[in-house]
Amino acid sequence: MGRLKRLSPSLINLIAAGEVIERPAAVVKELLENALDAQAQHIKIQLKKAGKALIKVEDNGMGILPEDLPLVIQRYTTSKISEPEDLFHIHTLGFRGEALASIAGISKLHLASRVPNYPWGKEILVIGGEIKEEREIGMPIGTMVEVKDLFFNTPVRLKFLKKDATELGHIYETTVRLGLAHSQVHFLLKSENRILLNLPPANNLVERISQIFGLKLAQKLKQREEEKNDIKIKCFIAPLEFSRPTTRDMYFYVNNRWIRSPFLNQVVYKTLEDIWPKGRYPLLVVFIQLPPEEIDVNVHPTKQEVRFKEPYIVQEVLGIAIKQALGESLFQEETLEKDIPLYPSINKDTGKISSQVKDFSSVYPQKMPIAEVEEVPFRVLGQLWGTYILCEVPEGLMLID
Ligand code: ADP
Ligand code: MG
Repeated sequence: MGRLKRLSPSLINLIAAGEVIERPAAVVKELLENALDAQAQHIKIQLKKAGKALIKVEDNGMGILPEDLPLVIQRYTTSKISEPEDLFHIHTLGFRGEALASIAGISKLHLASRVPNYPWGKEILVIGGEIKEEREIGMPIGTMVEVKDLFFNTPVRLKFLKKDATELGHIYETTVRLGLAHSQVHFLLKSENRILLNLPPANNLVERISQIFGLKLAQKLKQREEEKNDIKIKCFIAPLEFSRPTTRDMYFYVNNRWIRSPFLNQVVYKTLEDIWPKGRYPLLVVFIQLPPEEIDVNVHPTKQEVRFKEPYIVQEVLGIAIKQALGESLFQEETLEKDIPLYPSINKDTGKISSQVKDFSSVYPQKMPIAEVEEVPFRVLGQLWGTYILCEVPEGLMLID
């Protein structure tokens, strides 16, 4: 007898689920993507214990045919692609037919759906991947997915989950990412009985940004469209006064799919390097549109990474879009006297502050009063160790890291 054994289907499923479903937010992402692929206009998400006890997603999309319902929880069953060429012309968010199979394998899943031409719907109850119950039910058109006790049969994964607030934060971010790319869709996110996010159908992205990040920011948003060859980039960026200390609010979409991209992050750093203070990052939403054959989205099971065939063009066009959006004047040598430090510097040997104290208002045009970041009047005194900015405020001294 040899030593090799073929893994059982349920074990294969558990291993594969580990890749796609890392935490509750991954379930939310997959369920929201399915609802969006089904053309839903209203999507409601309800959570208990930050999704660890319950994630319920209801949509008013096209629904699942009763005969298909038991199949959707099987691995590699999808209605979205069928030929190898389809892989290079993906128009839906999902296509690998893995998500529901993965989720079903590691939770107690209740799935109910009704298509428009049927007077009633069908529901199934699945535990650890096995269908336990199946029946017809009365329900509105659309789909309802209830994921209970996620990771109940994978205790190690359960142990690695972070505290509720952290997991909730991931779910919130996931909803925002999809909400930005689908501004016409209504998203409602509730945790226990609290509404975390309510995004009614918006007419455009600026309106959606205002729903998420506030009217003040949306009113000052700059936007620009640039294109070259087949690459089209739409860039929305908030001015410096709304800058963030982290890169969390830098959103990139390729053909309307949110992606994580160290490469695009770099392009933004490089573009802003000379004009924004170190350590400040923009709130920015970038949509990159290009022919599907110019990218590979099948790089990672969660489809959150892509490869560009011509990264240099993307880099060039994005750089131009950001610069143009923020205003050409900022980038001209005259307005940015490079040899004079942006902040007065401290000579490490003598401990003296450089004489060429330059106040921000002369570096940034009127529209970008950096002082508004903290909304207190202050005067810049100097910079310490290249890290802290020392400011005089009515109460005394303020340090900005
Ligand atoms: P994929 O999205 O990659 O096709 P999934 O496992 O996420 O794989 O879903 C399997 C199939 O189930 C989909 O292809 C789709 O036909 C159907 N489906 C899942 N969720 C929904 C939904 N909310 N509305 C309509 N159909 C759905
Ligand atoms: Mg899917």
